[in-house]
Amino acid sequence: MSTATTRRYSASDVARAQFLRAVRYLHLRDDLIEYLLTPKRELIVHFPVIMDDGRMRMFTGYRVHHNTVKGPTKGGIRYHPDVNLDEIRALAMWMTWKCALMNLPYGGAKGGVQVDPKQLSKNELRRLTRRYTTEISILISPEGDVPAPDVGTNPEVMAWIMDTYSMHRGYSTPAVVTGKPISIGGSQGRIEATGTGVMFTTMEAMRHLGMDPAETTVAVQGFGNVGSIAALRMWEQGCKIIALSDVNGGIYNSRGFHVRDVMRYQKEHGTISTYPEADAITNAELLTCRCDVLIPAALEGVIDELVAPGVKARLIAEGANGPCTTEGEEILLDKGVTFVPDILCNAGGVTVSYFEWVQDLQGFFWTEAEIFERLRRLLLENFRAVWETAQEKRVDMRTAAYTLAISRVVEAIEVRGIYP
Ligand code: GLU
Repeated sequence: MSTATTRRYSASDVARAQFLRAVRYLHLRDDLIEYLLTPKRELIVHFPVIMDDGRMRMFTGYRVHHNTVKGPTKGGIRYHPDVNLDEIRALAMWMTWKCALMNLPYGGAKGGVQVDPKQLSKNELRRLTRRYTTEISILISPEGDVPAPDVGTNPEVMAWIMDTYSMHRGYSTPAVVTGKPISIGGSQGRIEATGTGVMFTTMEAMRHLGMDPAETTVAVQGFGNVGSIAALRMWEQGCKIIALSDVNGGIYNSRGFHVRDVMRYQKEHGTISTYPEADAITNAELLTCRCDVLIPAALEGVIDELVAPGVKARLIAEGANGPCTTEGEEILLDKGVTFVPDILCNAGGVTVSYFEWVQDLQGFFWTEAEIFERLRRLLLENFRAVWETAQEKRVDMRTAAYTLAISRVVEAIEVRGIYP
């Protein structure tokens, strides 16, 4: 994202710093700390894909399992030109804490391919996905590691993964991946789950902070699956959505956007950056615009020490994974900003992924109403646990969420014991 900082930014450094900050409140042994900081396994694959012009092109992909103690690993697959091992490693670790915080029976994983999916035709993307799936098939399975969508992937890509894996096995195996189309074992509500969960947790934080939705202005960075649904849901709750953006740039209107109309515009034009009746702003300007709630829902590392001093929101709801750098967050915490940390804020996605996996394994499917009711209950239960821990320990929300998540993983390690 902010190109000035990409080179020296390390997502893994941020993930480690967040972990170490929380560990101070847990009195863990050093050997356990070292264990928890270390990814269990990391697979790097280089593979060829035949492009539409007949030429062959090499691609690099990853699948990292951070921790498998609480169950099969879970985590998305990202297609993005900046994908690298350091990033996937951090994202895998965040999944461990996210799943533990939500009490899902999973460890953490992440995968990705270094590619700009927008530059590829659909056929190229399908061949790339099938080949990548084959390359990582030594790691994925319904019992071992279950991928899902992330930045740059979608239900269609998940369908190709499911199909490829099923062809290798000789029978259909829907539970190997979540976020699939409904017709092949996907779950009701999975597409909207992450954005809707952002709304549930953000509204709950606003309630605790005494913020009235009708008086609240919201800026959302990113208009993909997470940002667009988060914006829509916050708007449906009566908040005024004053700034939105996608990769091409942002739009601002102090009177507030009709989010459904912006979504319609995006469908027609492929971007929201040219939406009429709005001032054009940059993504950097969006992050520092005058608003009450800021929802970064794009990539990690966007709120760094250069951006943070200009941020005016009093509540930051992390739709993206790791949108704040360590330095950026320090500045904001000093200013008294409240965070709904990523591992809580965007956990709606993996939670409904869990529901999808359970439904696939049972071959019995739930209604949309059941999905959202269960999702809401789980998110609010865990929100309360995090909020109370933050009050008790007098720490910020992220540190509170981490202490809960880490202690659950530690308990599992201790109960199981170290093999052999
Ligand atoms: N990629 C999403 C995340 O970062 C979803 C993962 C999943 O559903 O397994 O949480």
